[in-house]
Order: sequence, then structure tokens, then C-alpha cells
Amino acid sequence: DHPMPYATAELTVNSPEQMQELGRHLAKLLRPGDLVMLTGELGAGKTTFTRGLGEGLGVRGAVTSPTFVIARVHPSLGDGPPLVHADAYRLSGGLDEMEDLDLDVSLTDSVIVVEWGEGKVEELTEERLHVFIHRAVGTASSRGATPGPPETDEVRHVTLRGVGERWAAVDLSVLSA
Ligand code: ADP
Ligand code: MG
Repeated sequence: DHPMPYATAELTVNSPEQMQELGRHLAKLLRPGDLVMLTGELGAGKTTFTRGLGEGLGVRGAVTSPTFVIARVHPSLGDGPPLVHADAYRLSGGLDEMEDLDLDVSLTDSVIVVEWGEGKVEELTEERLHVFIHRAVGTASSRGATPGPPETDEVRHVTLRGVGERWAAVDLSVLSA
């Protein structure tokens, strides 16, 4: 037994536009079957990120909060994978529950993005990309103790962590460029 290989990146996002851009960039690294789990409090920017991701994948339909549905399918406008956008709040049964929804796409052919509330279950599959989004304002490090430019209420700290063999050879640091 050896530790699961993983890829990580940490970056600072300064605006909603930049958050969307990050989603567009990440889309280029994704393949059918990938699961992206977004963690962050309400208003952190999970849906904003997913909107960019949908643009990057080239999918149809406006990406909005999936709060009132379990999952929404956005078919590709080209020959890329569809985006399945889910809210974990409604997904107590995990991915099995999604398989049962009759989404008319196969999850293994799709890119799956799950918006996750803070402090929920950590695992849906063995291979996954976690994206943690934290608001900077109000945290200890933003109260003036650290030097550097002042942080506004639009600043977000984003940590990406790929778990499982899928992510072993993926260079997430290209996202900070
Ligand atoms: P969530 O899905 O995590 O609840 P949303 O993406 O729906 O969050 O909403 C985020 C809100 O915060 C939007 O109104 C957006 O304009 C605002 N916002 C401000 N700064 C940022 C940022 N850097 N990244 C993402 N959203 C931001
Ligand atoms: Mg949301």
C-alpha cells in the first residue's frame, strides 16, 4: 500500500470574472467521467466557477444554481462531454442516487460537478478533484496581520486537490498561470 497520488494547486481569485476564467481553464484539463467536487459556503462562488467550466466545455444552457433540482444536464454544443451539475444538498444517496435519476446521459461519459456544502461527506468516488473556495474577508489572515495589498470582499482563496490515479500526472499548477 502506498499513498494515493494527488495533484494540488492553490490560487487567489480576485473577482467573479476571474472565478469564471478559472472554470474555463480547468475545463481544458477535464475528461469524460471526471468528478469535480466544489466546497464552499453559500456565496463562495461555486456556481460562478461552474458557469465558467460550462463555457470551457462548450455546453448548452445557462449554468444556474441547481438548488431546486438534484442535477441538471447541459449537453455539449460540440463533440465534448455533457456537464452534469448537481447540488449535494439533495444528493444524500451519493452518485448511486444520480445513476437512478434517468438523466439520459451516462455519468461515465459526462463531466460531473457537485456543489457541496461545507462539512459534508468527503467522498463520492475514489477519483475526484476537490475545489475548496474560501472567502478571504473575515478570516484571520485578512485582518491586516499580513503585508500585501488589502483584500476586498471579492477575494477568494481556491485550493484544488486531485485524489486518485487519474490526477497523479495532471499538472494543476498551469491554472495559476
Ligand atoms: P455559491 O454557488 O457558492 O453559493 P455563487 O457563485 O452562486 O456562489 O455566488 C457567488 C456570489 O459572489 C456572486 O454574486 C458573485 O458575483 C459574488 N462574488 C464576488 N467575488 C467573487 C469571486 N471572486 N468569485 C466568485 N464569486 C464572487
Ligand atoms: Mg451555488
